[in-house]
Amino acid sequence: MLLTDLLTKNIKTFGEYPFLYFKNHSYSNLETLHYAEKGAAGLRHLGISRGDRVIVCLPNMPEVIFSYQAIARIGAIIVPVMHLLHGKEIGYIAGHSEAKAVITSSEILPKVKEGLSESKRKPYIITVDQVADDVIGFYELAALADGTESSGERDTGIDENETAVVLYTSGTTGKPKGVRLTHKNLYSNAESAAVNNKERGTTIGVLPLAHVYGLTTSNICFLTGSSMIIFSKFDVSKVFKAIETYKVRSFSAVPAMVHAMLSSSDSDLYDLSSLKKVSSGSAPMPLALIRAFKEKFNADVLEGYGLSEAAPIVTAHREGLPYKPGSVGVPINGVDIRIVNEKGHELPAGEIGELIVRGDNVTPGYFQNDEETKKVLKDGWLHTGDLARADEDGYLYIVDRKKDLIIRGGFNIYPRDLEELLISHHAVSEAAVIGVPDERMGEEVLAYVVKNPGFDITEAELIQFCQTHLAKNKTPRKVIFIDALPRNSVGKVLKTKLRQLAEGVDL
Ligand code: ATP
Repeated sequence: MLLTDLLTKNIKTFGEYPFLYFKNHSYSNLETLHYAEKGAAGLRHLGISRGDRVIVCLPNMPEVIFSYQAIARIGAIIVPVMHLLHGKEIGYIAGHSEAKAVITSSEILPKVKEGLSESKRKPYIITVDQVADDVIGFYELAALADGTESSGERDTGIDENETAVVLYTSGTTGKPKGVRLTHKNLYSNAESAAVNNKERGTTIGVLPLAHVYGLTTSNICFLTGSSMIIFSKFDVSKVFKAIETYKVRSFSAVPAMVHAMLSSSDSDLYDLSSLKKVSSGSAPMPLALIRAFKEKFNADVLEGYGLSEAAPIVTAHREGLPYKPGSVGVPINGVDIRIVNEKGHELPAGEIGELIVRGDNVTPGYFQNDEETKKVLKDGWLHTGDLARADEDGYLYIVDRKKDLIIRGGFNIYPRDLEELLISHHAVSEAAVIGVPDERMGEEVLAYVVKNPGFDITEAELIQFCQTHLAKNKTPRKVIFIDALPRNSVGKVLKTKLRQLAEGVDL
């Protein structure tokens, strides 16, 4: 099955249903198909064809989906790029992917041009809201193809094992790598995840469609005939209003959004009683937040786990199975997991090791980067770089990233344990713990903490608090208070940035 099948498979039944709501407009599945066909004809008219890479660099808006479907129809490869990236970062991706076209908007255009300024390649620039000498309008492009040989018909030769998307990781652990995802990777993942979202409904699309988690959420909506209210940026009051207006029962989010919903006093202004569950993934979800959310909204936060290389969902809480807060659920259909030690031997339940994954959702490798591919794909298993354990019932618990593990005087310290403890203090809003080099201990523990507004606490008090709950050798040597943690576009804490900040800090 191909990416385009997600939209067309059920079009006879779902055609007239709204697929997207954006600003005061709605777009049905049939309209989405119409714009996808027009876009496909336009791209063909420019000479873009099978296997060519096309960047889509836009905030959430209908044209993102129209573009994705248009690109997929002609067998070209979608390169979603987060619009919040700097010009240079966009330029890096354009260069590395050898993009033939960039679809963007007038607002982002200056950054795109800056990014491309030093490149010899000159991809077509297509904007969704402007026509100028050096840019082509998305809708005008479609019109240009009218009456020509170029058609919006789907390329009939596309195989499901061909690359559909090259997704550059956010680079929280180094230079972005282009994860290749095939049609089959993405289709199978949406299909397996849809088992948990069988009911047609209206959901909220606050996750960036340029991120694999947001992309898959929209793919699931295609399959279930559901509608999605999309927002170009996360605004907690707008989310509350949408829940009330559309009687939203569930949506997908990241921990930072759950945190924002909990902290906002605006929730009292809306009737949010329809909300029954929020799926959360992408970053660790503190148990304290899950409990507080249930108390405040009477809705469950169901944590799942995934990564770009697995298109992305690996585990989720499954309907009909017991809900275990703190766990990220069980593998979705068609996905196998194992927990292995350094030698690659499978570990029994309860033991911590690296999580490895196998299934139709697993990437065939990175785009033009065999060296990195060999590091993560071994004998058909994807090595996630995440430390995890499974319980006797097969539920998975993410412990931490292997790279974030702190080894202090020979003892393993999982930053997440400490972060959860710090957040449980009433004066703490957010916390991130890193290891910093130390001559005596190898590494020392440093905590960055954001205080809750209106609360005060000293470094010594917080260290004392940690020492009363954890062994002394696991507690922070130093606590630094900051206004906000550096985060990426899906709210993930950028520990590389914190490590840079920590350089030269006196312990
Ligand atoms: P890069 O790979 O460049 O560092 P990235 O971390 O943003 O970028 P993604 O594929 O977006 O790449 O993120 C996947 C990672 O997110 C996982 O490997 C895991 O570390 C983390 N993650 C995802 N879900 C959870 C979860 N429920 N709990 C804890 N961590 C999670």
